[in-house]
Amino acid sequence: MAIEIKKIGVFTSGGDSPGMNAAIRSVVRTCAYHHIDCVGIFRGYQGMIEGDFKPMDARSVNNIINKGGTILKSARCDDFRTKEGRKQAYEQLKAEGIDAFVVIGGDGSFTGAMIFDQEYDFPFMGIPGTIDNDIFGTTFTLGFDTALNTVVEAIDKIRDTASSHNRLFFVEVMGRDVGHIALNAGVGAGAEEILIPEENRGLDHLLESLKRSKLSGKSSSIVIVAEGDKSGKNVFELKEYVEEHLPIYDVRVSVLGHMQRGGPPSCYDRVLASRMGVKAVETLLEGKKRLMVGVQDNKLILTPISKAIKGHTKMEKELIRVFEIMKT
Ligand code: ADP
Repeated sequence: MAIEIKKIGVFTSGGDSPGMNAAIRSVVRTCAYHHIDCVGIFRGYQGMIEGDFKPMDARSVNNIINKGGTILKSARCDDFRTKEGRKQAYEQLKAEGIDAFVVIGGDGSFTGAMIFDQEYDFPFMGIPGTIDNDIFGTTFTLGFDTALNTVVEAIDKIRDTASSHNRLFFVEVMGRDVGHIALNAGVGAGAEEILIPEENRGLDHLLESLKRSKLSGKSSSIVIVAEGDKSGKNVFELKEYVEEHLPIYDVRVSVLGHMQRGGPPSCYDRVLASRMGVKAVETLLEGKKRLMVGVQDNKLILTPISKAIKGHTKMEKELIRVFEIMKT
């Protein structure tokens, strides 16, 4: 039988992403709306183990919907990977009277919650917060849209200087395992080529493409490289390689780095976070658990956490084709 839920904990864990604050706000206010107590857990699983809790009401989350980062802080916590650490976390949650929690994070954070639930039968819901968009069961993760806007804006600026000097820029973007940011920013910022982890077309293909671009009369070129691309060379090595094989190009490198995670969330991420927070809390109140809230065809959907963790996201073939055509 489902337990009656009277107090819900909420925390952010793993890599931060824009929209996490909007999701916290939504969870807190949905609890207030349903007259359920809500407790903020600081620094993810680390704060859970240490009992770093703070009761939150509707007014605790004023003016945060527009803020990047997370007011609850995020952390990586090795102690939670141990049985002893999880036991301490359980004792802290029980002492505080927390009946269930909402975890906002990536697949690592969901894995931790799932293991904890297997040991302690502890109801929880997941909200996917990561800029990488690499979680199965949702077309968009929180922060992806904002990160894309940040990347495209940065590349627009790089393009200005690139075309003033007829230069080629390699721009490294985040994406260790997936190329969603690179592909979407490639289309959105009009890149000449993208290098993504899912598809290694080899260095010859890159040289051919750059040659063609030069011959077709383009005055500047942008190549977007996802961190995890499989060409075997990092952006600086790619610069050297191209300068050696295509001396017609004056090559520069820009690594966008952590700025991609920051900044105010886009309206899309704020709305999505608000929707996901409501759904997460109300699903717990219906007695369901171990699910992740996702969005598909602009409708919220629920996916078992175990599937969300194991499943892979696919690169959209149609978008890859659009990119190929736009290079013409
Ligand atoms: P993300 O949620 O962004 O994928 P991480 O992979 O760093 O980030 O995971 C965040 C935290 O989740 C870890 O620091 C750890 O506390 C917890 N976690 C991840 N994997 C496990 C696991 N296998 N067992 C227990 N806890 C885990």
